[in-house]
Amino acid sequence: MAEEKSEKYTWRQLTSDIADALLKKDLETWSVASERFGALAGVSIKRLRVGCFDFKVQYNPARVVSTTAKIDAETLRNRKCFLCREYRQVGQDAVRVICDGGEYDLIVNPFPIFNRHFTIVDDVHVRQHIEGRFIDMVSLAKSLCNHIVFYNGPKCGASAPDHLHFQAGNKGELPLQTDFDKLDRKVFYKTARTRLSYVVNFANGCFILESHCRRDITRVFNLFMSVLPVKKGDWEPMMDILVWFERTDNKRDPNLWRAAVFVRRQLRPSCYTAKGEKHLLVSPASVDFGGIFVTPRKEDFDKITSGDIEKIFSEICITHRQSEDIIKTMKNTHTTKNKNT
Ligand SMILES: [Zn+2]
Repeated sequence: MAEEKSEKYTWRQLTSDIADALLKKDLETWSVASERFGALAGVSIKRLRVGCFDFKVQYNPARVVSTTAKIDAETLRNRKCFLCREYRQVGQDAVRVICDGGEYDLIVNPFPIFNRHFTIVDDVHVRQHIEGRFIDMVSLAKSLCNHIVFYNGPKCGASAPDHLHFQAGNKGELPLQTDFDKLDRKVFYKTARTRLSYVVNFANGCFILESHCRRDITRVFNLFMSVLPVKKGDWEPMMDILVWFERTDNKRDPNLWRAAVFVRRQLRPSCYTAKGEKHLLVSPASVDFGGIFVTPRKEDFDKITSGDIEKIFSEICITHRQSEDIIKTMKNTHTTKNKNT
C-alpha cells in the first residue's frame, strides 16, 4: 500500500524539504510518530566534555529498543523485519529515491534522536553492507543537504543488520558537524579532490574524508576500506560512518563533502554487561560518536561522566596502534600510484 502512495525521485531531485514534508504528513497520520517526536521535545540533556567536543548526553527512554536490540541470526530469522514495506505501520508513508547503488524508501524513524530523523531503507531485504553503497550515502548527503546521513555497521549498532539502511538527522545538532574545525586532522593520503586524515584529539579510530568530488570521495573511501581489518566471519570492517554536504564560497569547487569513519573492534563496551555500579545500558553508534550520547535509562543519564564515555570509546574503537598500522598500509599500498596532490 505504501508503494502505491510513494512519490518517486532520483537523488538529484530529492531535497531536505521533501523529507521534512513527509515528516509533517506522518505526524498528522501516524500516532506513533506524533507521540515519539512530541516526547523528544521534552528529553533531558546534559553536557560533558569528550575529547575536543562538548557532548550532549540525551536521556531518551524510547531508544531502549535500539540499545538492547538482539541481532543474533536466530532472532533475526524469527522476527518480522520492521524495515520491510509489508510490515510497516498504518500511516507510515514513504518517499522513493533512486540512487546509483540501489533504490530506497525514505521513511520517518519512529525512535527519533533528532527533531527530523529519517531511515533510508533499501527496496530489497538485503543485509547491511556498505560495499557499492557509499556513493549513495554521498549522493543522499547532497540531496538532504540540511541533514547528516549516517550508517551503523551490521555489528556496530544497526538494529536491523539484515536489511540495508542509512539514517538521516537534521544538521545543527551533532558537535561533530557544528564544531568540525575543532578536530585536529593529520592528512595521510590525498588526491587532487580528496583528503583522508586521522584525528588525534578525539576517539581512536576516527578518520575523516573531505572532498570536492562525489566520485573521488567514493574511490578514496573504497581504497581505505581495502586496508581495514575484517574479523573472521564478518563481511566488512567494523565501522560507523557519518556523511554531510556543504556548499562553499569557492567558485571552482562549490561542493564539499565531509565524512567521518569510526573504525571499531567491539559492538558493546564492558559496562553494558557489568554488574552493580559499573553497569551502564549504552550501546554507542554513529550518533553517539557524533556527540549526542544516548542513555535510555534515567539512572545512567544521571551517573555517566566524561571519563565513562572516553573509556567506552577506547574499548569499542580500534587502538591508536591499530590506526597507525592502517595509515602505514594505506600509504604503502596506494600512495605511490596516486602522486597527484
Ligand atoms: Zn527487511
